[in-house]
Amino acid sequence: MNDADRIFAEIKKEAAAAGIPYSLNIHPGVRINTRARTILGSCRGNERTGFVISVSERLLSAPEIALRQTLAHELIHTCKGCSNHGAVFKGYAARMNNIFGYDISRTTDPEKYGISTEMPERHKLMCQRCGNVIRRSRKSRLVQHPEYYLCTCGGRLKRIQ
Ligand SMILES: [Zn+2]
Ligand SMILES: [Zn+2]
Repeated sequence: MNDADRIFAEIKKEAAAAGIPYSLNIHPGVRINTRARTILGSCRGNERTGFVISVSERLLSAPEIALRQTLAHELIHTCKGCSNHGAVFKGYAARMNNIFGYDISRTTDPEKYGISTEMPERHKLMCQRCGNVIRRSRKSRLVQHPEYYLCTCGGRLKRIQ
């Protein structure tokens, strides 16, 4: 498991060494987002209220470089003039890339790191006649009310997970 707080501290040291003027008003703990499927990281807040950096839980079990680059990307967002991915942002990203061999880009595509954006199949229903198992990731009407539905064989469905 990658330690987001430890790696974030390292990224801040690297950014400081590269002369990246990141905000000193950043919440010390990296928030772990357990819900986002396709977003790897985010940076919310501003200089006055302080910035909060979040990363997807999925980065904790991904290759460490994916977490490092995501944290570096979000850290750059705390710099003045970097709330978007404009020229200032790009300049700092290029500097980090040159010095540390990163590939910080405007967008971070989870697939690039082999992180699937598929939803996990959290719910299962089983046909009480043929044993067919139906998997669903969302708590849909079928999951909540299997009694309203029938299997293609005509059998009743029962929620098993
Ligand atoms: Zn960004
Ligand atoms: Zn059936």
